Amino acid sequence: MNIHEYQAKKILREFGVPTPAGFPCFSVDEAVEAAKSLGGSAWVVKAQIHAGGRGKGGGVKVAKSLDEVKQFAAKILGMTLVTPQTGPRGQVVRKLLIEQGVDIKTEFYAGLVVDRGSRRVCVIASGEGGMNIEEVAATSPEKIHKLLIDPVAGLTVADAEDMVRRMGITESAVMEAGALLQDLYRAYDSTDATLVEINPLILTAEDRVLALDAKMNFDDNALFRHSEIAALRDLDEEDPAEIEASKYELSYVSLDGNIGCLVNGAGLAMATMDIIKLYGGNPANFLDVGGGATAEKVAEAFKLMLRNPELKAILVNIFGGIMKCDVIAEGVVTAAREVHLNVPLVVRLEGTNVDLGKKIFAESGLPIIQAGNMADAAEKAVAAASAGGGV
Ligand code: GDP
Ligand code: MN
Repeated sequence: MNIHEYQAKKILREFGVPTPAGFPCFSVDEAVEAAKSLGGSAWVVKAQIHAGGRGKGGGVKVAKSLDEVKQFAAKILGMTLVTPQTGPRGQVVRKLLIEQGVDIKTEFYAGLVVDRGSRRVCVIASGEGGMNIEEVAATSPEKIHKLLIDPVAGLTVADAEDMVRRMGITESAVMEAGALLQDLYRAYDSTDATLVEINPLILTAEDRVLALDAKMNFDDNALFRHSEIAALRDLDEEDPAEIEASKYELSYVSLDGNIGCLVNGAGLAMATMDIIKLYGGNPANFLDVGGGATAEKVAEAFKLMLRNPELKAILVNIFGGIMKCDVIAEGVVTAAREVHLNVPLVVRLEGTNVDLGKKIFAESGLPIIQAGNMADAAEKAVAAASAGGGV
């Protein structure tokens, strides 16, 4: 699960990480009031969306007067912000963070992630933080420093200080920056985070360290023990189809293509997407209905796919094991009758109760294209989608 910058900063402050003072705001008036109560002579108006790269997309502006705060807040609030991380459709900005402006002397990068290879949390840090960190990683990987944390010892003072020296932090700020890294790790560990990223971590004109930006992701499987974090979920930032799917405990991920996939089993669903690609098509979604799905659940899954305006064909690929082919067939037929099925439907069934499943489809009167095997099914689905759909 992903949260906003202002939420991440609040959590990190609780662990002792210094951040600029600021307030989340939902209107232009609130933004101006926030700036007034912060005082000072510079403020930063920051779009709050679940994607990075906001600076590049015009979602982070430094204001030098209350009038500019008002101007920038009015411009950013409600805009569709397109950044390198949002995809071309962008994300609507519904919240702002108004922060005290800070004089930046140097921008650094510090992050924590799980390194699956070593099964440890890894500190990733660089002396070249800021908006072009991806470029630094690509062109000068030697400038990115890594440190694996021993889960028993945690991040020791010695290791933390060694790391901030490698980042090139001024000697007088080493203790403070080392402590910040340790606080970050405690926050990461205690909240079951999967990512903590501070970019930029800065040295101010007075050589104080400050987390100027903050990103946190959490392990969904651990949210049950962090109700206060689970409560930070912002459904506005999530895909509506995926939210709907989660209500029915369906594993659904929206994709850019136009061939809907209804499959049982995550592995078979991945293989189905691969074979669609192999035949020159593009899947519209990943959907695993699971092993124990009922006909009602299958019907909901089917309706979910049909909501996608880009949809040109559907491929149902079932290998009946625990899941019985007739249950799938019943679900699909029920859903297709409830909603107007206006795209070709290619079906490949194999396994438990396959004959019964095929019979249900055959007697349904639906214009179904039967396929003999996966390759045949993919080829037929791609052909049907490129023929423009419409039946
Ligand atoms: P991101 O582009 O989504 O990662 O958003 P950031 O929070 O990192 O902001 C983008 C950039 O804005 C930062 O890299 C800074 O260079 C700049 N910025 C953010 N806050 C301040 C500030 O208080 N003062 C100044 N001068 N620049 C800031
Ligand atoms: Mn940033």
